[in-house]
Amino acid sequence: MTAELMNGKQLAASKQAEMKERVAKLASDGIVPGLAVILVGDNQASQTYVRSKQRSCEKAGIHSVLKQLSAETTEAELLSHIHELNQDPTIDGILVQLPLPKQISEQAVIEAISPEKDVDGFHPISIGKMMTGEKTFLPCTPHGIIELLRASNVEISGKHAVVVGRSNIVGKPVGQLLLNEHATVTYCHSRTPDLRAITKQADILVVAVGIAKLIKKEDVKPGAVVIDVGMNRDENGKLCGDVDFDDVESVASHLTPVPGGVGPMTITMLLENTIESALNRS
Ligand code: NDP
Repeated sequence: MTAELMNGKQLAASKQAEMKERVAKLASDGIVPGLAVILVGDNQASQTYVRSKQRSCEKAGIHSVLKQLSAETTEAELLSHIHELNQDPTIDGILVQLPLPKQISEQAVIEAISPEKDVDGFHPISIGKMMTGEKTFLPCTPHGIIELLRASNVEISGKHAVVVGRSNIVGKPVGQLLLNEHATVTYCHSRTPDLRAITKQADILVVAVGIAKLIKKEDVKPGAVVIDVGMNRDENGKLCGDVDFDDVESVASHLTPVPGGVGPMTITMLLENTIESALNRS
């Protein structure tokens, strides 16, 4: 068996092309969706992510504003920027790129963003609504994974989904979204004693750990759908996932590549949330 490739890059491109049309129509009605991105400090990876988010906004016709703050910024200063953006009628979405320098509480920052502009879906109100199944901004990476499964016609209802990783931004919410789609969900993490015994039971396996090529073919049930969220560098400095692609390709029925799988979907869902937010302008 050779796994069918779940092409996030292609799906993202087609969704972004649709969005561009929606944004053009909105603009003709006088509404230009606006996203503010706050970057604190000079973390290289964060700078790359932020640039790529801005480029995608530009392409879609979304107005984007970058606030670049020094690594010495205090929590009070950052909160005051957020309060200002919360009041700004041209801004529909506010994103604070994580991680933040040590002197700033990530939770305080996330909670300061108005839930109406929480396009990352990290605010406790957004998370609560996601859990109860109410309409809200869904966190982008988990939402992108669900969209990728849908586009690949993968049945989720009744399937055993195993999520490896339990971070607040990926592992926990993707498990919740799979549960909302009626999967039976098992979470694994660093204290799970026999990881393989559990991953091998998965019909849908989502891996969000951050260890290059952790998952091998022996960890995967033949025919499983495997979603690789990881973004790591291998021994040659090449971008790779948490799943050993060449190995697992021979057992999985569907598999996401890295790069070109989950990553492009994350940005796409961010753009979608920003457009949705603009539509809610009163
Ligand atoms: P975190 O470091 O926040 O979480 C990692 C999770 O993996 C933790 O829950 C941890 O368990 C678990 N874990 C660590 N080691 C093991 C192990 N040996 N076996 C099983 N579980 C383990 O990472 P994130 O969730 O933020 O990100 C995960 C990966 O996804 C990273 O590579 C990141 O770069 C990538 N990523 C990709 C995105 C995209 O758009 N493609 C977006 C966001 C992240 P414990 O809780 O017990 O510590």
